[in-house]
Amino acid sequence: MFDAIKSAFTKLKRELIGRGNLSEKEIADFLKKLRLTLLEADVNYKATKTFIAILKEKLNSTEIYKSLTPGKQALKVIYEELADFLGAKAKQLEFTKPPVVLLLLGLQGVGKTTMAAKLAYKFKGQRPLLVAADIKRPAAVEQLESLASRAAVDFFPPPSAKSKNIDTCIAALKHAEKSGNQLIIIDSAGRLHIDDDMITELAEIKQKLNPAYSLLVLDGLTGQDALRQTEDFHAQVEVSGAILTKLDGDSRGGAAISFRHVTELPIYFIGTGERIEDLEVFHPDRIAARILGEGDIVSVAEEVQKVINVEEGQAMAKKLMEGRLNFEDLLAQMKQLSKMGDLSKLLDKLPAGMTGGMNLTEFDPSEIKRTEAIILSMTPEERRRPDLLNGSRKLRIAKGSGTTPKDVNQLISQLEQMQKMTKMMKGGASMHGMPGTKGLRLRRKSGKKKRKKRRR
Ligand code: GDP
Repeated sequence: MFDAIKSAFTKLKRELIGRGNLSEKEIADFLKKLRLTLLEADVNYKATKTFIAILKEKLNSTEIYKSLTPGKQALKVIYEELADFLGAKAKQLEFTKPPVVLLLLGLQGVGKTTMAAKLAYKFKGQRPLLVAADIKRPAAVEQLESLASRAAVDFFPPPSAKSKNIDTCIAALKHAEKSGNQLIIIDSAGRLHIDDDMITELAEIKQKLNPAYSLLVLDGLTGQDALRQTEDFHAQVEVSGAILTKLDGDSRGGAAISFRHVTELPIYFIGTGERIEDLEVFHPDRIAARILGEGDIVSVAEEVQKVINVEEGQAMAKKLMEGRLNFEDLLAQMKQLSKMGDLSKLLDKLPAGMTGGMNLTEFDPSEIKRTEAIILSMTPEERRRPDLLNGSRKLRIAKGSGTTPKDVNQLISQLEQMQKMTKMMKGGASMHGMPGTKGLRLRRKSGKKKRKKRRR
């Protein structure tokens, strides 16, 4: 996420921190480079100009020059101003008077339909009703229906093939009131370009359904264009906030800064993938830290906590350190790690220095399945006591799991290696070499790879 802007910032940051003192001229030079960085990240020039002016004033009014660590002081100011520019504090949706209507609007292809389902999934406790009010884009209704079933939430289709979108929305509201849905999420019709038809339709939906939130969905990849879309939509149908999608791609961050510059309204969420789970609350301070290459440890911890049972984790860590790991533990740990999904997303949130060129990719599900099949073909006693596994037992397990004795041997030696390694490390555990993690290689760009090999 924000890769280009992040690496440019990281470079500038290094220059800044490396200095024992800072002159006004150096700050001015720094701001010039920062301005270029933002423009290259496709941040609109007006937004860039405003941000640089704010930063300049703040840097000049803060007594960084007298500080013993002026670079660090300057960085602190930049972080605070960037977080502030992005909205300071995360905003929550408030569900006060149910049914709360949430209208999603935006151009075609920005990710509205996907986002509607992600929000329904996130707020499942509100018994959301997903309303298909987009008969303009072919298959949008079917797409929403299928996503609703994946999220296991209620779905409201157009009552007939000829229903107008506004009529679908009105009927959905009545339905929600009867059925006790506390949240109504409307997937409105987009267009390739803003036109009068769309604006009239959105204005009518707003007038008749009085949505608590009209959220503009912006494609995080669009950069400059986001500013134009924000200006046009906001001027014609007054929005109450935004959602940025596709921030998992090589988005350059321009959309976030542009939206805030025009509206000063909150950005509520970001979409970070195609799955319904790929939704994050937009935390301006955490995003600012990520952009500055400082990482977002809080989010990483939250994500790990979601899937890891703390007590089990502690018991596992103890076993790991004592080198007492058996196949049952291994299976449990693999399942937990696989629940974390794409690990490269976690890596993206770690501070730049901490990742040191590592490249974590997703768990290979087929390998996990194979490992799981082998372990499940063992008797409970064999799982706890790998030393029991002789030739005939291995053959039986291979047959039972549809694998070969070679695969079984490989798994056994991987477990032994892990036991040895963890005994040796004592102080901590590594996922390296863990079965099912073929795709989970810790790749380093430098010569550190060799060192790692020797250690094993
Ligand atoms: P709509 O026309 O605004 O309803 O857009 P869709 O919801 O159909 O999304 C357009 C395309 O973008 C689809 O292929 C989605 O799978 C994809 N998409 C939506 N959100 C994200 C996201 O956060 N990340 C990625 N990588 N793709 C997304």
